[in-house]
Amino acid sequence: MKNKRFYRYWLSSLVDVVIAVLLTYVTLIISNKILVYLYRYTKIQLINYFFKFWNIIKYEMFGYNIYIIVEISLFMLFYMLVIYKKTKSLAAIMDETEIMASGDLDRIIKVDSKGDIKNLMKNINDIAEQLKDVTVEERRAQQTKTDLITNVSHDLRTPLTSIIGYLEIIDNDKYKDEVELRYYVNIAYEKAKGLNLLINDLFELTKMQNNTISLDKVDINLVQLLGQVVAYFEYQFKNANMESRVNFSDDKLIVNADARKLVRAIENLLSNAIKYGQEGFYVDITTKIEENMAVVQVINYGQSISSIELPHVFDRFYRVEKSRNSEIGGSGLGLAITKNIIELHQGIISAYSDNERTIFEFKLPVK
Ligand code: ATP
Ligand code: MG
Repeated sequence: MKNKRFYRYWLSSLVDVVIAVLLTYVTLIISNKILVYLYRYTKIQLINYFFKFWNIIKYEMFGYNIYIIVEISLFMLFYMLVIYKKTKSLAAIMDETEIMASGDLDRIIKVDSKGDIKNLMKNINDIAEQLKDVTVEERRAQQTKTDLITNVSHDLRTPLTSIIGYLEIIDNDKYKDEVELRYYVNIAYEKAKGLNLLINDLFELTKMQNNTISLDKVDINLVQLLGQVVAYFEYQFKNANMESRVNFSDDKLIVNADARKLVRAIENLLSNAIKYGQEGFYVDITTKIEENMAVVQVINYGQSISSIELPHVFDRFYRVEKSRNSEIGGSGLGLAITKNIIELHQGIISAYSDNERTIFEFKLPVK
């Protein structure tokens, strides 16, 4: 089934021919008239000679044939002139697409033309643009995957190496007594537990990022939930020689959320505040309502995060330089998981840090 465009394009070739024919005839008629006029009314010798010579060729030597040859030549000349611009544009587009096909997608075809050729050019440019976006996206995804594999291998290998090391000591009976044996077993056990945790985190994060996680949403009183989690953390606060201070608003903050996931997000923030805020002694947990969003802040007063590092703390495997070089363990997945959980609930999470305090704040839509 041929469409309208096909017929229009087909017809336009015919129009080109008709224009060339008309131009040929008009040129022939006008030049004939001029020649006759010049012959009759001027006394130029050269024209006289030419006129006679022309008539001899035309009527005595070749007859009408010469006229046809002149006509055809003129027609071809005009036809080529008429299709000159179209051909030039098409050739330019072909040249450009050839360069694009060889991989240079940064090119934009710029041809001065109208109608279908302009449309063709626009479409090719659009395709190149889309292809470029896809390629960039693909490269980024590939890079992320490579980074992930590198990080995972590193994070899995480090504890695994020490587990193997300790088990080897035990296997070769290189321990002094039962106490030392227990000590090595305990380290290997702790490391294995850490590994298990890391793998679970990774699995959960991947599931969340692939959107293959299903949320078990119910209406939750956020203030109540926070109170419970903070109470549950009391032991850890004490252990770290720290104190939690809650400052909850009177508003009833009801959110529709997956309670287990939300607890996980809050736990991550609290455990970070304890891990990285020990010098500050206090951890404040506050709630308020702002433009139909429940706002929760976890504030600690320990070491600050520099403004260069702050935008990356939510990246998976990212750990601030100071933490990486310290004794404090961690895989850098906690905040990435927290961010994913909050975003799965149509919420927003942000971080702020200065010399005095570090604030992690999340907002969730209230019902
Ligand atoms: P994980 O939570 O997976 O065990 P982690 O705590 O290192 O490991 P994240 O919770 O993602 O990873 O935190 C990323 C980094 O951000 C931390 O390594 C730490 O440097 C910094 N950070 C996070 N929370 C705080 C905080 N409250 N105060 C100061 N720095 C923080
Ligand atoms: Mg953490």
